[in-house]
Amino acid sequence: MTNQTILNRSLQSVWHPCTQMKQHETYPLIPIQRGDGVWLYDMEGKRYLDAVSSWWVNLFGHNNLRIKDAIKQQLDMLEHVMLAGFTHEAVVALSEKLAKLTGLGHAFYASDGASATEIALKMSFHFWRNSAKSSKTKFISLQNSYHGETLGALGVTDVAIFKDIYAPLLMQSAQMPSPDFRLAESGENAEAFALRCAVALETYVAAHHDELAALIIEPLVQCAAGMGMYHPVYLARAREICTKYEVHLIADEIAVGFGRTGTMFACEQANMKPDFICLSKGITGGYLPLSVVLTTDHIYQAFYDDSTAKGFLHSHSYTGNPLACSAALATLAILESDNILEKNKQKTAYLKNKLQAFTALPIQYPRHQGLIFAFDVKTNKPQFSKRCYQAAMQQGLLLRPIGNTVYWMPPYTITETEMDFMVDVTIETLKTTI
Ligand SMILES: *Cc1c(COP(=O)(O)O)cnc(C)c1O
Repeated sequence: MTNQTILNRSLQSVWHPCTQMKQHETYPLIPIQRGDGVWLYDMEGKRYLDAVSSWWVNLFGHNNLRIKDAIKQQLDMLEHVMLAGFTHEAVVALSEKLAKLTGLGHAFYASDGASATEIALKMSFHFWRNSAKSSKTKFISLQNSYHGETLGALGVTDVAIFKDIYAPLLMQSAQMPSPDFRLAESGENAEAFALRCAVALETYVAAHHDELAALIIEPLVQCAAGMGMYHPVYLARAREICTKYEVHLIADEIAVGFGRTGTMFACEQANMKPDFICLSKGITGGYLPLSVVLTTDHIYQAFYDDSTAKGFLHSHSYTGNPLACSAALATLAILESDNILEKNKQKTAYLKNKLQAFTALPIQYPRHQGLIFAFDVKTNKPQFSKRCYQAAMQQGLLLRPIGNTVYWMPPYTITETEMDFMVDVTIETLKTTI
């Protein structure tokens, strides 16, 4: 089979995500046959370096033997059992491990990030009901936030292109000023700006806490907003404010969890413990869909009652899927045993050094947080992101700029030679597309 036949069949039969399908008349699909390490191979053997970790999910490369083996072993034992009324080794072991890592517990599972957001929102709302504070029904999030695209999650998301058309269907939420330092006044440093945004947050929360259930926030990096990064002091202040006014803090670490920002979880950089944490994406190393929400004993206890209706009756068919849990256990084992966070520091330093080559180009806000690197390109030429994507792909690099933001979020297994390739091709690409 050739590239051409499979992509024609795909255009006939598959409705691709996040895509205006008509644009595939000009931007062809890329049929991928196999993956190995940081590389994806198309059906004609051409390879592409996966600099975006396949939409931020892959941690240890494609065709990772340890994760693959763990799934195979689980497959021989039990592929799935419903988690209502039943349990199994993999889900128990994973829940225990996640509790140790996060300091939260009572792991509630689903299969994707948006569902984790839904679960956290529903749990928060229901907690206040169960606690005789039923006026607390509203949610706040940050300007330019992204928490997923199901209707509840979209209600707290603030990305116009995904949200505006569905506005009549969505619950209302208020957006607080984002501490993304690109939005700071000139001369204002990231910390001062973050503190100024926290003052605005406190003003709003002080006036509305009677009706607020929770603040949902992407710790340290607003990825979908174009890798908007901010100073951790904002998180520390947000925690204090939420505690003071009895508003839950939901940390959406779906994209930034499991070491992306340099620490296991981004919240750690503010010494901050949320009331809920949402995890997904990297949790299985990019192998299988899995998400989880963990919370405090205090919140859990408000549901523990003789009344069925006070319980959290939410469910998904594949909740706690054993195969996905086994992939997650293998992922956590690699993170631990291979000292990954330590090794990533060297890679971060290596890339940071490389970023200097970009100052000769018309870019601004070069930034990084752990192994997430980004900068914004100053160009007025139309369709920059699409042209950049295509030019990079021609040279064997999968880059997927968000607007004018070019970023790298590679698998942690990337080598120095591969980083050199990623950087060099990015420079070449920018020279022809800016
Ligand atoms: C990707 C993402 C989600 C949604 O996850 P899906 O698995 O795509 O539904 C939610 N929040 C953040 C911060 C994300 O990056």
